[in-house]
Amino acid sequence: MTMLRAMVLDRPGTTLRLDERALPALGAGELLIEVKACGVCRTDLHVVDGDLSHPKLPIVPGHEIVGRVAAIGANVTGFTLGERVGVPWLGATCGVCSYCRAGRENLCDAPQFTGYTRDGGFASHTIADARYCFPLGEAGDDAEIAPWLCAGLIGWRSYRMAIAGAAAKGFALGLYGFGAAAHILAQVAIWQGCRVHAFTRAGDDAAQDFARSLGAVWADASEEMPPEPLDAAIIFAPVGSLVPLALKAVKKGGRVVCGGIHMSNIPSFPYALLWEERQVMSVANLTRNDAREFLDVAPKAGVHCTVTRYPLAQANEALSDLRDGRLQGAAVLIP
Ligand SMILES: [Zn+2]
Ligand SMILES: [Zn+2]
Repeated sequence: MTMLRAMVLDRPGTTLRLDERALPALGAGELLIEVKACGVCRTDLHVVDGDLSHPKLPIVPGHEIVGRVAAIGANVTGFTLGERVGVPWLGATCGVCSYCRAGRENLCDAPQFTGYTRDGGFASHTIADARYCFPLGEAGDDAEIAPWLCAGLIGWRSYRMAIAGAAAKGFALGLYGFGAAAHILAQVAIWQGCRVHAFTRAGDDAAQDFARSLGAVWADASEEMPPEPLDAAIIFAPVGSLVPLALKAVKKGGRVVCGGIHMSNIPSFPYALLWEERQVMSVANLTRNDAREFLDVAPKAGVHCTVTRYPLAQANEALSDLRDGRLQGAAVLIP
């Protein structure tokens, strides 16, 4: 009998424990997926650290899942056994609230989130609502594709908001925090013609070198002003004090998009920083359409993720390394 091995969080603020149990029963509309790789996202850290309220407990974190279909529930169409699929953060939506009906399912009033309100991918297997799973094809390595499922998708949605329909060619884009999401998005934005400026913690030469190696035209500390005013900036680091800094760096009419689910408090700042139609906005979750768009564009842009692989049982080490900024690119668990 196949057993489920999972890294489980019992209580926020504690470490994950390895659990082994029988595979849960597969419901109608669901897929059983044998996990091949699961990325570790900053949101997982927020769940583990207790920054986000009301996770299902105990919970198996992880929402950047690449796996193979191992069983297909009743009433599921469009998937075959053994097919490679991806499971993102958006686990399910209600389909009937005003947001869902308006095509804004990322804001659904009664959503489910993978690895937060339903068990995720820090496991040998996971069960997902088939309507929110994506075929991934066979090109590319499982671990290197896993970060696409959140860092990539949220980065893409943030980018679409930041660029707001403008031409990408010559667009001056700032990225604050050069982790998993920024390193993916930088590749797409540069491929589309943007001039990417990377902002990191002061003194983080490794991250700045990494950004330049991917084609950023400039990389320096977040407190520095870029050599040209930015058309827009995206903040991926969970640091509220970056908001006034980014507002200072964007030109008239420019946007500052906050791409994370949680941020430290934003300090007060003079109105002059917002004046001249600058905008501050947040990006919440993703729609399935975001996923379809990104999964189409990423291979064309030749996106290549830099990953550090950890065995599943070392999920706590991966989380610590992410928390302490000890890795470039993305951490990925391999069951
Ligand atoms: Zn809804
Ligand atoms: Zn995420």
